[in-house]
Amino acid sequence: MKKKIKCPHCGKLTSWENNPYRPFCSERCKLIDLGHWLSEEYRIQVPVEGLDEVHEIKKEE
Ligand SMILES: [Zn+2]
Repeated sequence: MKKKIKCPHCGKLTSWENNPYRPFCSERCKLIDLGHWLSEEYRIQVPVEGLDEVHEIKKEE
């Protein structure tokens, strides 16, 4: 029985076996999704500067 999976990026059905880009359907989808994930992580790291401000306010109390 061949396992079929849905590409998380484009939703196209692709096979799990012999698929070097799984769970994606192609290298293109894998790279696009990885790039998207990395930019999401970058955005999460940005507000760290704001956390320092909160610490400073607490010290003043
Ligand atoms: Zn895809």
